Amino acid sequence: MLDRRIIMRKYFGFIIVFLVWSISSCTTLPNGKFEKRSTVFPKNIILFIGDGMGVSHITAGKIIKGVLNLESFRYSGLLTTHSQNAFITDSAAAATAMATGYKTDNGAISVSSEKEPLKTVAEYAEENGKSTGLVVSCSVTDATPSAFVTHVERRTQKDLIAEQIASSDIDVLFGGGWAYFVPKSVKGSKRADEKDLIAVLKKRMKVIRSVEEFQQLGIIDSVTGFFAVKHPPQAKYRKPQLPELTNKAIEILSRNKDGFFLMVEGSQIDWAAHENKQDFILNEMIDFDNAIGAGLEFAKSNSQTLVLVTADHETGGFAIHDGSVEERRISDSGFTTSEHTAAMVPIFAYGPGSSAFSGIKDNTFVGKTLIQYLHQ
Ligand SMILES: [Zn+2]
Repeated sequence: MLDRRIIMRKYFGFIIVFLVWSISSCTTLPNGKFEKRSTVFPKNIILFIGDGMGVSHITAGKIIKGVLNLESFRYSGLLTTHSQNAFITDSAAAATAMATGYKTDNGAISVSSEKEPLKTVAEYAEENGKSTGLVVSCSVTDATPSAFVTHVERRTQKDLIAEQIASSDIDVLFGGGWAYFVPKSVKGSKRADEKDLIAVLKKRMKVIRSVEEFQQLGIIDSVTGFFAVKHPPQAKYRKPQLPELTNKAIEILSRNKDGFFLMVEGSQIDWAAHENKQDFILNEMIDFDNAIGAGLEFAKSNSQTLVLVTADHETGGFAIHDGSVEERRISDSGFTTSEHTAAMVPIFAYGPGSSAFSGIKDNTFVGKTLIQYLHQ
């Protein structure tokens, strides 16, 4: 009897030790579930935002391309997108929600409805010693990229946005928008003052303006590339294309042993849908999906990388009515509007921490969760 009690106590001790170990090696995810800590928190985060990309835009891309890189993602869900003051969001409020975890009014860039600055996932990443990057196919001063590194009341305050970008800690910046960084007296400038923000950027990083300079970039820690005075052209005329820029950004940022945060935007999917032009949407979707492929390829060889793909809102009320999967053709489609809609947008996740991004969530969940991951 005594022996049995000693054995029972021994087993009980083992069970307690096992439970303590289990609890300490697990953590609560934002969805309330438990996951092993070693697999949950990513060292690197790559966030792809397809501006205006709804389910029909993705469907159209799949019909034409056949198989999308998006199909490699294990977890997917939907996000609600309304803003603080509007039933239908704009890119500024939606990007703020994803960058900071908070709702704000349409037009506001990472400030609250009360105009208080909201700290962004990129700023938290920098604080944690990570490198950060923004890669877009529009001007870098546009709403989506600026919401990750600037804080202004109105998205139209381009001069101020450019100033805040130039004095931010961003390590890789690829897109258009050179005109907002040069003094008013320089031909082509869009500034209202004589501030030389190229000189500010050059104090801490290389600044390039051509495809040739981009192709000759060697081993480097930080760079800004302006590939257009204002906005780069459509995907079929754009050089470098989004996948090349994404690959280069990852190559540079991944040199930091503490990890990185990178946001890549397929900016012109939205413009194509505003114009109700299906071919324009398709070209932008394919360029964006190829960029996603570049991110996934890195994540497959680096298991500490979380890749997210989502959109800020749907644009166009785009619907596909007829076509052929075999012939990869859309024969009938339509748009209900030339504006944004309230439709939920899809989110896809791959890598550590990805299981949280399933089911129906609000877009603020993206910012809140990424910031939570960076705090671990
Ligand atoms: Zn739009």
